[in-house]
Amino acid sequence: MRDLQVEVMSSSPTILWFRQDLRLADNLALQWAAARGSVIALYILEEDSDDPWPIGGAGRWWLNHALVDLQKGLKQIGVNLTLRRGDPLKVLRALSEQSGAKAVTWGRCYEPHAIARDKKIKAALEDEGLEVVSHNNALLFEPWEIKTGSGTPFKIYTPFSRACFAAVSQVPQPVVVPKKIEGVEGLESDDLSSWQLLPARPDWATGMRTFWQTTEQGAHKQLEQFIGHHLQQYKTGRDRPDQTSTSRLSPYLHWGQISPRQIWAAVQFALAKQPALGNNAEVYLKEILWREFSYHLLYHLPKLPEAPINQNFIEFPWRQDSVGLRAWQKGLTGYPIVDAGMRQLWQTGWMHNRVRMIVASFLIKDLLVPWQEGERWFWDTLVDADLASNAASWQWVAGCGADAAPYFRIFNPTLQGQKFDPDGAYVRQYVPELGNLESAFIHEPWRAPVELLAKAGVVLGQNYPKPIVDHGMARARALEALAKTKKT
Ligand code: FAD
Repeated sequence: MRDLQVEVMSSSPTILWFRQDLRLADNLALQWAAARGSVIALYILEEDSDDPWPIGGAGRWWLNHALVDLQKGLKQIGVNLTLRRGDPLKVLRALSEQSGAKAVTWGRCYEPHAIARDKKIKAALEDEGLEVVSHNNALLFEPWEIKTGSGTPFKIYTPFSRACFAAVSQVPQPVVVPKKIEGVEGLESDDLSSWQLLPARPDWATGMRTFWQTTEQGAHKQLEQFIGHHLQQYKTGRDRPDQTSTSRLSPYLHWGQISPRQIWAAVQFALAKQPALGNNAEVYLKEILWREFSYHLLYHLPKLPEAPINQNFIEFPWRQDSVGLRAWQKGLTGYPIVDAGMRQLWQTGWMHNRVRMIVASFLIKDLLVPWQEGERWFWDTLVDADLASNAASWQWVAGCGADAAPYFRIFNPTLQGQKFDPDGAYVRQYVPELGNLESAFIHEPWRAPVELLAKAGVVLGQNYPKPIVDHGMARARALEALAKTKKT
């Protein structure tokens, strides 16, 4: 861990604009601001923006808690967090006039809307005589840094990940939190509660509150737990939704409460002490690189969230199936593993990766509903909703993305459930109506003998749905749709 020397260089304050880097440790913008002298820490709730992907409901819930935590942490090192809402350029201008700030700094964001916004703000503020400096606070590598031998962006994950492993020694070590920073007093700030980020009527966040510790410290506890107890069997454990075997760091990474540099360094440290972690650690680091790859794709293909990368899919014969979509969203498809996943999402704001793939495949291939509908639902309901990872993953499952799973690979939800939730513990947790059903039928209750269903208190079509679609028929229909697409 590096401890950068803070040497005061300027008498006017610096505005540190927090965005998706809501942490104190390994925050290069914070280090830069602190090195110049007094700091105004700012978060802006954007309003009237034309962002096609404004923060979703579950994201707003997480953001609220992350801001409370950031407020506390900054206070401890001597700085207040100023909260303002509105157009960021107007807010920054007003704040620099009110405070005499001559510099603004932030951690870079990579969503197309954010890139355009930041370019505009930087140009305008520089024209007005302010210094504007941005930093890499979110990724191991900038999306433009990793290139193929011929200097072009990567489209395939495996060579991309190899190039990352080859370059990772150049990634700087994480830096520690400065002990004390000089703040600026007397600036007006909104009251966080006035932003109404939390759900009130109804309060759907009860399950989320118990599932997550939404703080920077919570992120590090989670990482420590994961490295100490689960990393050693990550390679096989990561596919088991009935176990707590993945790191569950995705929301912290999205909101920047932990950095990939910190995760990478912690895993390397563990590996140095315990070389037997070798293969499992490598598989885990490769997942961190899937996140990098998603950002790489989004940066180079900014239409990724809206349009298929593979042009053949533009004419794909999707179905409009609002009834099927609603059943999927509510976890009432009649396929227990799909329903468990969708209910886990609703209750906790998160879903296991294996199950994300199963539910996405079901929506796209069994129901033939456009992948963008699923992407939008995830966007609103995931606490880790991340434009790059969400869009790249939906395109991956749909088979229309860069380096995607082939469209003809259609998950059978029953077999997936039997393989990855063998005793049905995951289904029992999230679909309690099936809680007493014997394991042999937990993933296909429609095949259970009537007396077993009765004994378990399951009445298909009444307290648990019959399958809304026959998987065999749906599979054939999806393959036919694909064949037609290829011909167009
Ligand atoms: P771990 O297995 O512990 O992995 C560690 C980290 O690696 C994750 O936190 C994440 O940052 C990264 N990672 C792992 N798998 C992927 C992946 N396939 N793509 C990109 N990064 C990955 N992840 C999001 O962070 N936000 C999303 O909005 C999102 N939407 C998804 C939508 C679909 C349809 C699918 C199939 C996957 C999606 N993912 C998304 C990727 C993945 O499911 C989650 O990152 C993972 O489940 C988070 O749990 P974890 O932190 O325990 O993962």
